[in-house]
Amino acid sequence: MTEQMCDVIVVGGGGAGLAAAVSAAEKGASVLLFEAERELGGSTSLSAGLFTAAGTSVQRGLGIEDTAEKFYQHYMDLNHWMLKPGLIRTFCEQAGPTLEWLVGLGVEIPALESANAHMPGLCQAGVEDVWRGHVPKDQGYGLVRALDGRRRELGIEAILGTRVQSLLIEDGRVVGVVADDVEVRAGAVIVTTGGFAQNPELLDRYYPDSRLAGDALFVVAAPGSRGDHLVFGEQADAAIAGDGWGLILPTAYFQRFHHWQSGFPPKSRIYINGHGRRFMDEDASYAVSTGIMAAQPGSVWAVFDDAGRLGLPAGYADWDAERVAEEAAAGRTLRAATLTDLAELMGVPAAALESAVTRWNAQLPHGVDEDFQRDRTLANKGSTENPEPIGQGPFYAVMMLPAELVCTHAGLEIDSAAAVLDHSGIRIPGLFAAGEAGAGVLGLRYVGGGNAVANALTMGRIAGQNATDLQSARI
Ligand SMILES: Cc1cc2nc3c(=O)[nH]c(=O)nc-3n(C[C@H](O)[C@H](O)[C@H](O)COP(=O)(O)OP(=O)(O)OC[C@H]3O[C@@H](n4cnc5c(N)ncnc54)[C@H](O)[C@@H]3O)c2cc1C
Repeated sequence: MTEQMCDVIVVGGGGAGLAAAVSAAEKGASVLLFEAERELGGSTSLSAGLFTAAGTSVQRGLGIEDTAEKFYQHYMDLNHWMLKPGLIRTFCEQAGPTLEWLVGLGVEIPALESANAHMPGLCQAGVEDVWRGHVPKDQGYGLVRALDGRRRELGIEAILGTRVQSLLIEDGRVVGVVADDVEVRAGAVIVTTGGFAQNPELLDRYYPDSRLAGDALFVVAAPGSRGDHLVFGEQADAAIAGDGWGLILPTAYFQRFHHWQSGFPPKSRIYINGHGRRFMDEDASYAVSTGIMAAQPGSVWAVFDDAGRLGLPAGYADWDAERVAEEAAAGRTLRAATLTDLAELMGVPAAALESAVTRWNAQLPHGVDEDFQRDRTLANKGSTENPEPIGQGPFYAVMMLPAELVCTHAGLEIDSAAAVLDHSGIRIPGLFAAGEAGAGVLGLRYVGGGNAVANALTMGRIAGQNATDLQSARI
């Protein structure tokens, strides 16, 4: 038998893995970190770094009173109480302290109101009444840089370009991993390999809703999101949680990039369902918007006029005036001189579409949206000008659908210590998981921008601490 090389092995060097490695080393463990790609960071470094947490110094700096208890209640309510309360309470209690830990490592989050995920400060993350979306300076990359700096300071070795092949299991205990066909032994293993958004077969099996987008589906998650945690899970007979859940954002059928690169549809637009009716706040958070759109009869269309198209700011990859005109010329975006003709192309009742536009023109352009309260959402996003009426043709209809796949939620079921459970609900000795790989925190509904990064870093930190304690006690 080969000798134990270290106390803790961490598999995957994204947000959860770095948090796990650093927190384990801070507790005195010797740690080895494997990363499949040539650089650390995974989806975490591609992210906006938005982090949901309650009771933080940033909130206090803005005079906002908040508690983990309120966060917990909101989290459970939004997820229909389908998640394990003990795990969610731990997450909600530890997200704030984890954020403070990151600030201590050099992450900067100013106590300023932020209008969006790219403006450092505090924003509304989802549909919470108390703002909890913490936006760090330099986004996800800023989080990874701070954690990686601490990793170097602690002397944790990161083995890059090395994809762990399998777990090493003896007598029901995880005792290490196999990488490059070499067995590497440790007291505990933490799986932080991210999600499976880049693996079509696993999407079919664990997140079939993502396939409803058909050819419009595009994946923004990091290339390393291949679902290796599910292979390890099968090997260790781990239970799977979060089956069928993930985050897929509503986009136009022609978008192929994350929205900050793709651009945004005209502010003066309404979403119309298969009955020709307006049905939602078009700026609703993706905590709820995907679900609302998926529940509509028929297709969902963004309807706007030529002034809306021409007002699109230049410099974005997809939502650009010329691009929309090209799509219309090709017949993929619908275009008509009158709303009656547009309704015919859309296959919806003309009277309903005309009534929706008339009502929109009478409401939000004058400051209120009695039906869908979009004025409140726009104000929270820092908007100071009302949208224009939808006035002169030609009019456009662009099909909108959930097609931008950001992250997946099915993974190895963990408890509140981030220990992995087997099918009987019993801890698998020596095995921990966190981030997208460790399931139970990310639920049916995405609680708001910041849900996944907070999960990765908070549960990663908890995994590192507990793997250190439990491996030394051989539990
Ligand atoms: C464009 C984009 C924007 C986002 N914005 C936000 C946001 O602002 N806020 C938010 O909360 N969430 C956001 N998300 C989601 C969030 O970033 C992720 O869910 C989260 O960061 C995942 O962290 P992780 O550590 O689980 O996985 P990752 O950060 O993806 O790390 C997993 C790592 O494991 C490595 N790996 C995989 N298999 C192996 C193996 N066998 N051996 C060794 N290494 C392996 C991968 O290469 C990768 O580096 C965003 C995601 C994307 C793609």
